[in-house]
Amino acid sequence: MKPLYNGSVKVYSFKCKNCGYGSKLPLGSSDLDQTLVDVNADYAEYRLFVCRKESKFVHADIHDKDFRGMCPSDGTELEEVDPRQTKCPRCGKELEVQEINPLATADSATE
Ligand SMILES: [Zn+2]
Ligand SMILES: [Zn+2]
Repeated sequence: MKPLYNGSVKVYSFKCKNCGYGSKLPLGSSDLDQTLVDVNADYAEYRLFVCRKESKFVHADIHDKDFRGMCPSDGTELEEVDPRQTKCPRCGKELEVQEINPLATADSATE
């Protein structure tokens, strides 16, 4: 039996202790087993970007035909960043990054 989700999309939690910025975004690709089937309309790959205008993280599906590297809310060019190495988009300091298993989100909010 094929699982509905392969679990390759992970929710990333970003927290800045310096300025209080925080964001939670699902990132990753939806279906790695299907990479050979390039006509799969459900294939999505969420990547992390920074909008310099708003100083915040934006995630976008790079396989979305409407996505052209622009921020959906203000149309400025987005800068792609690595979720494990990025700094706070607001103040540039270290971020606390946590990967949250989507299947385990139910009890992870207690900390
Ligand atoms: Zn910050
Ligand atoms: Zn923006």
